[in-house]
Amino acid sequence: DQAMYAAKQGGRNRYVRFDSEHDRRTIEQKELLRRVEAGLASGEFQLYYQPKVDMRKGKVVGVEALIRWNHPERGLLLPHDFLPLTECLDIAVDIGNWVLKEALGQSVVWRQAGLELPVSVNISPRHLQDVDFVSHLRSLFERYPEWERHHLELEILESTAFDDVALVSEVIHECANLGVTFALDDFGTGYSTLIYLRHLPAQVLKIDQTFVRDMAHDMESFAIVESVIGLAAAFKRRLVAEGVETLEQGRLLLQLGCDIAQGYGIAEPMPASEIPAWIEHWQAAPSWADL
Ligand code: C2E
Ligand code: MG
Ligand code: MG
Repeated sequence: DQAMYAAKQGGRNRYVRFDSEHDRRTIEQKELLRRVEAGLASGEFQLYYQPKVDMRKGKVVGVEALIRWNHPERGLLLPHDFLPLTECLDIAVDIGNWVLKEALGQSVVWRQAGLELPVSVNISPRHLQDVDFVSHLRSLFERYPEWERHHLELEILESTAFDDVALVSEVIHECANLGVTFALDDFGTGYSTLIYLRHLPAQVLKIDQTFVRDMAHDMESFAIVESVIGLAAAFKRRLVAEGVETLEQGRLLLQLGCDIAQGYGIAEPMPASEIPAWIEHWQAAPSWADL
């Protein structure tokens, strides 16, 4: 009897602790939700852009939009600081739609200034599976010239397809009909990579940065990079290597047949205003060409 009483008490104590932890997180999430809504309304979010280059040709081939939050008290926040907390909430869709609108608007501004620059946008699983995703994208496109949509690339994680691969593949098809390209981000990290590759009509594979980082000194990472490059050739997909930090990595990638690279070794993400000068400077002296 006494043992049972103790167990019950222990159980009850655990339950109580869990409950208050749960309450704390709910309060934190509500507060965050309120701050994100206010931040979206008052322009605290900003897109940084990281160039993607063709190492062989010495040309900038596009930029990836990466969200930042200029938080009034906490300073510049990275996606990791706030996106995971919003992912299960409706606000994830609002953030995603803001990013799409902002990136497209910026792309139009660049083009009007004579800069032909495809823009990639990361789409969260929650956003891609939103019932209004395609219709929202379609109505957004109506504000811009027809060709604008052909310069938009959407990056999704393999895990996005995990919930419902049929739905995700249908959304990709519908977007492709609108002229939008898809890329599979962090490719190789998902545990069903090959199945998704067969079923998702994404034209681009982005080799995950962990493999690129280790490829020069770790044979297994090197083998993975080599295999992904082979897969891309077999499936007729384009390739981008992420997280390229050193010349050695760039050289290895070129030797293996991956020409397009993105990473701190080329450029860190920067505000849109710095992009035109960076491109002009880099293309005048492309240290990453002819490695
Ligand atoms: P990602 O799409 O794979 O983006 C690449 C991340 O790696 C970026 O981090 C970028 O700054 C960083 N990176 C680029 N080159 C290098 C390098 O050479 N070395 C290292 N160590 N890191 C490098 P960031 O901006 O913190 O974004 C992290 C992730 O957050 C992104 O990974 C993406 O999944 C997500 N994310 C970013 N912006 C958005 C957005 O607007 N919407 C959504 N849904 N997700 C976003
Ligand atoms: Mg990405
Ligand atoms: Mg990535």
